[in-house]
Amino acid sequence: MPLPSDWTPDALQAASQNLRDASPRTILQWAFEQWAPDLVMATGFGPSGVVLMHQVAQLRPETTIFYLDTDLLFPETLALRDRLAERLGLTFTRIHSGLSLEEQAQTHGPELWRRDPNQCCFLRKVQPLRRFLADKPAWITGIRRDQADTRARAEVVEWDRAHQLVKINPLAHWTEDMVWGYIHLHDLPYNELHDRGYPSLGCLPCTRPVAPGEHPRNGRWAGHRKTECGIHLQPETT
Ligand code: SF4
Repeated sequence: MPLPSDWTPDALQAASQNLRDASPRTILQWAFEQWAPDLVMATGFGPSGVVLMHQVAQLRPETTIFYLDTDLLFPETLALRDRLAERLGLTFTRIHSGLSLEEQAQTHGPELWRRDPNQCCFLRKVQPLRRFLADKPAWITGIRRDQADTRARAEVVEWDRAHQLVKINPLAHWTEDMVWGYIHLHDLPYNELHDRGYPSLGCLPCTRPVAPGEHPRNGRWAGHRKTECGIHLQPETT
């Protein structure tokens, strides 16, 4: 897919520079001006997503906000989805692999996440996301530079080489403290598991609580070298 409309990599870089210190609201407004109604937002119902959803609900509540349902999400995450829908007046689009856990077990063996989490994430997250984004010009995500080394170079606006569309990261320059400050200031709902030692939440079998002071991402795919499910990784350039 070519770059949407008149956007070139240089133009995207210039836009990102102009917006690098802008508020998330300004960045979102700018993105809606460029790509609404085709701009979509991804969420895993983490704290950053809650902040963005609060602002999207005020700016453009009809925005398509989607989540990847792996069939292995925590019940608390699904409960938060429903609370957010009620509180913010949003509807969420469920993206699913089309592959049941039983079918996956028949083809790849039971509990694939234990033996090959990369393959499991590919089947249940990466592939369905790829299909969903294939005809979209741009997507909004909640990723922040302070979340992981793999995200340290995230730009406010960037070309997503993996999915071939524009990626908007309105909270790229925010810190975890800023996110939680915003949530408490506006008394927004959040996942109750964050109060029980889970700073970063994904699928049930691949997420554990972390000890105080431990890096938040240590709670994901413990025992494996993996730190990302793959949906925010970009192919290497040579
Ligand atoms: S996070 Fe774990 S269970 Fe979820 S898709 Fe990835 S490997 Fe599978």
